[in-house]
Amino acid sequence: MCCSIIGYCGTGSAAPILVNGLRRMEYRGYDSVGVATIESGDGRITVRKGTGKVGDVNSAARLDEMPGRVGIGHTRWSTHGGITDANAHPHPSSSGKIAIVHNGIIKNFAEIKDELVRDGYTFSSETDSEVIANLLQKNYTRTGNIKESMKDTVARLQGDYAFVAMFEDGRMAAARFHEPLMLGVGRDDLFLSSDVFGFIEYTDEAIYVENGCIVIVDSDKITFDVLDFKGSPVKYEITKVSKEFGDTYKGEYAHFTLREIYEQPESVLRAGSKTEQNIREAAGLISRADRIYLTGSGSSYNAVQVAKHLFARFGKTSIETVMSSEFQFVSENITGHDLLIAVSQSGESADVLNAVRIAKNAKCTVIAVTNMLMSSLVHEADMSIGMNCGPEIGVAATKSFTSQMVVMYKIAAELGRIKGSDRRIYDGAKDAARLSDAIARILEDPTGIQRMAREIRDVTDIYVLGRGVHYPIATEAALKIKELTYIHAEGIAGGELKHGPLALMNPNVHVIVLNPDDDTYEEMLTSATETRARGAKIIGISDKRSDVYDYWIEIPTGGREADAGDEVLPPAPYPVLEIIPIQILAYYVALERNTDPDYPRNLAKSVTVK
Ligand code: GLU
Repeated sequence: MCCSIIGYCGTGSAAPILVNGLRRMEYRGYDSVGVATIESGDGRITVRKGTGKVGDVNSAARLDEMPGRVGIGHTRWSTHGGITDANAHPHPSSSGKIAIVHNGIIKNFAEIKDELVRDGYTFSSETDSEVIANLLQKNYTRTGNIKESMKDTVARLQGDYAFVAMFEDGRMAAARFHEPLMLGVGRDDLFLSSDVFGFIEYTDEAIYVENGCIVIVDSDKITFDVLDFKGSPVKYEITKVSKEFGDTYKGEYAHFTLREIYEQPESVLRAGSKTEQNIREAAGLISRADRIYLTGSGSSYNAVQVAKHLFARFGKTSIETVMSSEFQFVSENITGHDLLIAVSQSGESADVLNAVRIAKNAKCTVIAVTNMLMSSLVHEADMSIGMNCGPEIGVAATKSFTSQMVVMYKIAAELGRIKGSDRRIYDGAKDAARLSDAIARILEDPTGIQRMAREIRDVTDIYVLGRGVHYPIATEAALKIKELTYIHAEGIAGGELKHGPLALMNPNVHVIVLNPDDDTYEEMLTSATETRARGAKIIGISDKRSDVYDYWIEIPTGGREADAGDEVLPPAPYPVLEIIPIQILAYYVALERNTDPDYPRNLAKSVTVK
């Protein structure tokens, strides 16, 4: 599913740097950890590894005390073979002269393994990855040349991979095929890493390694070459990575997720900034395209569902939204006159990238909306819009979701201008400031929500109702509850209640109704009344109190669309406001239930495998 790889060579001691990098990349999700270094002097590769968290494996195996200036490290998300010490990476070749760390899946590993076993190579894990070590060893023994052996190895591998190999003479080589890989270039050291967090403390100069490339590192001279899979040199660019990415600590907050929720009054102000020109151009492209597709996965998909309402209502434009994992099944008729907007926080989500590739094959223009401006998505898209919300470490999306929505508001507002819409949606800086204030007010005093969290911690089912633009927020709310609390939750369109879900209502369930005072208000209240009549407890999220609610979470008042003058927040940004109390609620219920809000079980932050 996901994990991280890292390689280091330089003047410093490799092991502590590798362990630190792995710790910073913990958010990517993993089940085992390992490091290999070469002891200076005798050139022997030493491997230490185990299952569990970086901190625990490090305490048990003292990874950071391993000697040497060159090393590789890994956090594994097992795909082939159980979660065992033997299956943890790094994997040495059977002679022990090469060790590798691998992220991804080698589809044809069984056939390669059979062949290598016939040749006398031995295997000590059940992973697909171990074939890379022995295949590379075989090719290196034959050619005596790192470049040739890497070329022959990648020519043979099928699947998705990024791997780093370390040779006993201290040289390193890496290859990238549909899994992320970056090169960090320091003054006296080089880093190979899955993302910038692997090295940001040491250098802010990075090379985004293109897909289908090999990197060969000379650890003595601290130099490197970037080649394509045929062995020809490839041009590369060194980019400055934003320093803010170095600043990933929890500060005064107990968890990254809480800190990220509390950053939202700030982060919504930065959404789309620095790429305002691209927002205008994106609106122009949308207004001229034949068909407009928006795609994303998880929370990003919920954000594009919000966009569908905004574009229709304020931008006079109908669009199609498709879950990225479903895109391949509905994209047959896509053409070069169409437009795809692909949304992904990490810019590395395999499903989203797959949708982008399908669209590009059809010559369709692609606009990326992402938080990571050095990601694969940005490289593959024709144009990019930055969410600019800073690093999001908590696995469950919080601030990235609200930033995605604000970007969509901005695009819809531009589209409205182009199409001559007279509906007021989101007027630049003034509304941004009001929205930011309103979020800050919701966050000011969480005691009511904390109390509610205690009351609902043992509930087994929570349903979230929303109508119109609030329906995608209902599905996002249910997603947050599932991810953070492991309570079963479902988002339901208010109008659909009678068509089935009403059968589920009974005194044991809690129902959250998203009920701001806008044109969905009355009908939503009717739905709430219907569920209450079946005994369900109602949590109303609204700017207006009602007797129908057993609990009321107040959100700041805006004005109705018709009378929203300049002085009040128009109702349009309510979706951004109403998700905030649910993020807080999900966070506190997680604490009540003793689950880890930053790293929900079985989930990874950026899902780089389909
Ligand atoms: N497929 C490999 C394994 O199961 C690597 C998984 C990963 O990306 O961590 O070990």
